[in-house]
Amino acid sequence: MKDLESKTSLYSLDLDSLKELMISLGEKSFRAKQIFDDLYKSKNKEIADFRLLPHSLISRLDIDYTVFDFELIKRLVSKDAQTSKYLFMTKDGKFVETVLMKYDYGNTLCVSSQIGCRMGCNFCASTKHGLDRNLKSYEMIEQIAYVQYIENVRISNIVIMGMGEPLDNYDEVIDFIQKIISPMYFNISVRKITLSTCGIAPKIRELADRNLAINLALSLHNPFNEKRREIMPVGAKYSVKELMSALDYYVKKTGRRVTIEYTMISGENDGIEEAKELYSLLRGKLIHVNLIALNEVEGSHKKASSNKNIKAFQDYLNKRGVNATLRKSLGQDIDAACGQLRSKNIAKIELKN
Ligand code: SAH
Repeated sequence: MKDLESKTSLYSLDLDSLKELMISLGEKSFRAKQIFDDLYKSKNKEIADFRLLPHSLISRLDIDYTVFDFELIKRLVSKDAQTSKYLFMTKDGKFVETVLMKYDYGNTLCVSSQIGCRMGCNFCASTKHGLDRNLKSYEMIEQIAYVQYIENVRISNIVIMGMGEPLDNYDEVIDFIQKIISPMYFNISVRKITLSTCGIAPKIRELADRNLAINLALSLHNPFNEKRREIMPVGAKYSVKELMSALDYYVKKTGRRVTIEYTMISGENDGIEEAKELYSLLRGKLIHVNLIALNEVEGSHKKASSNKNIKAFQDYLNKRGVNATLRKSLGQDIDAACGQLRSKNIAKIELKN
């Protein structure tokens, strides 16, 4: 038996490639659809669990193929059991984080799009070690399939808000979205998919032109251009003004409401001046603000805003008709904020060597 590293995940093959494979193995091409259904309509970990395949084909496939090419390294469940976090290892030995949140309206998976990140936001753990590599679309699919298998649940909502900047891995992320919404794959509703970006303006426009009509979230974190650049280097390339215009374009093209993500950092962006400026940027727009208290990252001196400041900021916007909600931060006891678990594991591994 070969090791995992030398096997190919069946999730990396589309239906046509699977058909070709079946023919090359001297099998009927309808076997491809059976395998596809085992991958996307059932929850299996081993090829041996595929119900309709003859034993000879299972043994043949087992030589070179595997269902998952990830290895589950860690599974952490929060005390309230609402949030679970997974650390996977890819077959080239990299760490990928995925978070499952169980809400009343359905199971939401927070998917990573890259290993590490090169955007450099200075409050974010994912970017600490820079970008390692992009994830392939099948590796994003594998995150869904693996968690569905482990928890024996159906995932109905996807947020592309894990490690990485999805618009910096545009083609693979689009391929991922197109596949998971397809009835052949997971058949996830396009309205239940949210992509979060640090603000790559031309890619936001490109996404709008694709007419995929997924939900879009922009990580703004400061309405003042100069101050935003200090915490988010990408702001030096695309100004707040350019981003607002790209968001207007997105709303016009897709008819979808856009969300502004705003992480509240004490003394940095949580004053009434910022609330005022944010209000003047957003009034009259089809935009909703999601406030999140900073998840304090080990080794950083940045602190979360006080409840008092968050409430004052939120009230300022709501009283003037800009809808602002405070997102409950789930899973703080399990390092659920993006990149934290990987970052800690890298630190441990670096210490070991
Ligand atoms: N690169 C994308 C998606 C990944 S991060 C983006 O920037 O939107 C998902 C969200 O978590 C972003 O809004 C990001 O700014 C925020 N975030 C990152 N680190 C955080 C932390 N320590 N506390 C709170 N939010 C954080």
